[in-house]
Amino acid sequence: MKLRPLKRSELLFSAMAGLLGAAAALIVPSAAQASPLRPLAVTLTFDDGAADHTIAQQLLQNHGMAGTFYINSSLIGQPGYMSRSQLDDLAVHGHEIGGHTASHQDLLTLAADEQNRQICQDRNTLLSWGFPVTSFAYPFANFDAGTEAAAQACGYNSARAVGDLRSPASCLDCPRAETVPPPDPYAIRTPDDVEVTTTLSRSLPVRRV
Ligand SMILES: [Zn+2]
Repeated sequence: MKLRPLKRSELLFSAMAGLLGAAAALIVPSAAQASPLRPLAVTLTFDDGAADHTIAQQLLQNHGMAGTFYINSSLIGQPGYMSRSQLDDLAVHGHEIGGHTASHQDLLTLAADEQNRQICQDRNTLLSWGFPVTSFAYPFANFDAGTEAAAQACGYNSARAVGDLRSPASCLDCPRAETVPPPDPYAIRTPDDVEVTTTLSRSLPVRRV
């Protein structure tokens, strides 16, 4: 998703932060880095398929924007989570559906075969529902070389981490933006995630993502 001017995305970011309890990740290259050849790009991602993400969906659509929604397929249809028809509605309106494991387990606590099941089964389920899923996000942003390899083996072409980019309250010496292409497509960096208490001027430490 590409936005100009940035002020518009900042306003939307503020509105979403006030409404959403689940995590969102924001990638904001420095305005000083932008140019006609390197346009500014912002992506907004939402994890877990929480029911209140329909609010984010509507806000995005009100501004002609699309987001990426990382889904735990076995949670879809459960209380507090989106339904299959709501996922269909996301896709119809141009939002991206990504994978986030079947049931939001911490992959680093699982044996290799269970890691593969969590990642691959989730992707296969989402594919069977008609979503061309190519992007993945690690639950709790916990990953290592083994989980990176598993995400790749399951057919994903990217995997999102959280952190390692400069944020208002942390990582002040970190780069301001992820590069395109990223140095490691299976460890895509972001600023700190956005919580319900996040304001434009302050970002809180990473919690559940
Ligand atoms: Zn999550």
